[in-house]
Amino acid sequence: MRNSIIARSYYQATAQAGPMCPPFAGDVTTDVCIIGAGYTGLSAALTLAEAGYKVVVLEANTIGFGASGRNGGQICTGFSSGQAKIEAQIGKDDARRCFELAQEAKQLLTNRINQYQIDCDLRWGYMHAVPKASRFDELRAWKDEWDALGYTDTEILSKQELENRLGTHVYHGALREGGAGHFHPLNYCLGLARAAINAGAALHEQSKALEVETGTQPCVRTSQGSVRAKFLIIACNAYLGRLVPKLYGKIMPVTSYIIATEPLGSERARALISGGEAVADTNFIVDYFRLTPDTRLLFGGRASYTTLEPPNLGAYMKPRMERIFPQLRDVKIEHAWGGYIAITNNRIPDCGQLSSTTYYAHGYSGQGVALAGLYGALMAEAIRGTAERFDLLASLRHLPFPGGPVRVPLLAAAMLFYRLKDALS
Ligand SMILES: Cc1cc2nc3c(=O)[nH]c(=O)nc-3n(C[C@H](O)[C@H](O)[C@H](O)COP(=O)(O)OP(=O)(O)OC[C@H]3O[C@@H](n4cnc5c(N)ncnc54)[C@H](O)[C@@H]3O)c2cc1C
Repeated sequence: MRNSIIARSYYQATAQAGPMCPPFAGDVTTDVCIIGAGYTGLSAALTLAEAGYKVVVLEANTIGFGASGRNGGQICTGFSSGQAKIEAQIGKDDARRCFELAQEAKQLLTNRINQYQIDCDLRWGYMHAVPKASRFDELRAWKDEWDALGYTDTEILSKQELENRLGTHVYHGALREGGAGHFHPLNYCLGLARAAINAGAALHEQSKALEVETGTQPCVRTSQGSVRAKFLIIACNAYLGRLVPKLYGKIMPVTSYIIATEPLGSERARALISGGEAVADTNFIVDYFRLTPDTRLLFGGRASYTTLEPPNLGAYMKPRMERIFPQLRDVKIEHAWGGYIAITNNRIPDCGQLSSTTYYAHGYSGQGVALAGLYGALMAEAIRGTAERFDLLASLRHLPFPGGPVRVPLLAAAMLFYRLKDALS
């Protein structure tokens, strides 16, 4: 996989100064080695360092280089798969416990922002907009499901009520949540990194793990040395490549793209989303958008299994934004970027152990902003000796993706199927 598919993202252009994380060199022995400095790895590092563990984090690029520094910034509720698939596997009670963990994920994120004073433009409010009148009833079913799970901070908006809040006529109603929202994903990630360093973790950028041993004493080799540890956490998500062959078939990288307009001015921005919520449609292949504090519209969507970048990403994405907001035709796109989402076959995140010493979590399937931090914290909790909550999530089963030459074509065909389904349903 190529290293970067972006020009300079809006997030990089507005990032706070990151902490100093020198490249790793030498031969070191530690308690826990973590590969990958996104939300998953940093959350585990922070939790463990605060509990007194010696922690070394190896990051191939820079802090937040992966999905954690380039996502839509939408803090979502629950799992990308929905509850039904989880319930079908492990029953109602345990599925409910999973949902409660997903709720805790948002709380963990909020607590950390407050505790470590992470300046990342956190804002609550989220709307799920239906693209077809025939799908309005899905909103009622969704609300009923969440009500039954005890999450009641939601309301259904009719087409007219939605149009009072959104400057578009393409949607036919929405489910509005008060308990989901959005933020600046890279600044949050950098804040987590600072907190982990302050707690004593050693973070190293430009330190790619080249070889991994997952036995009784795990060992990770980089070009400049090695880390031996009692425990190893693999937190590379869609950027994992073939580093750990046993994990290769479990997830599939899918590319998602985002554009940011020039600043629109407060009046024009408010006319698009008057309440400042994050918005996503309810299609399988989702369009999502929100405003930034400097009055830009961030608009994301599309998905590609090929990981090939369109030559002019801004021009490629803009018509999609204009379909929702034709009034933005005259507006300039100032940033366009993309990143790799790790999906699993059933859209339930995948976590587990490769041995008694080696943990992994990945495959949040486009909904990892809050969840990744939780999975990182639960791996840390398991290493500290309380594995019950991690084991519950690890008990969820997944079919692997095919390997070899059919891998990408099969998934491209699946994507086409879902595009058609979105268009026809
Ligand atoms: C464009 C886009 C939009 C998204 N929008 C949303 C959204 O709005 N809401 C939401 O909930 N989720 C969203 N997601 C998903 C979410 O961002 C991810 O689920 C989450 O960030 C995953 O965090 P992570 O730490 O597991 O992985 P990542 O943040 O991807 O981190 C993995 C890290 O591992 C490093 N790495 C890989 N291999 C090695 C190696 N060999 N050695 C050392 N380091 C290595 C990588 O460089 C990378 O920094 C989006 C993702 C993308 C790409």
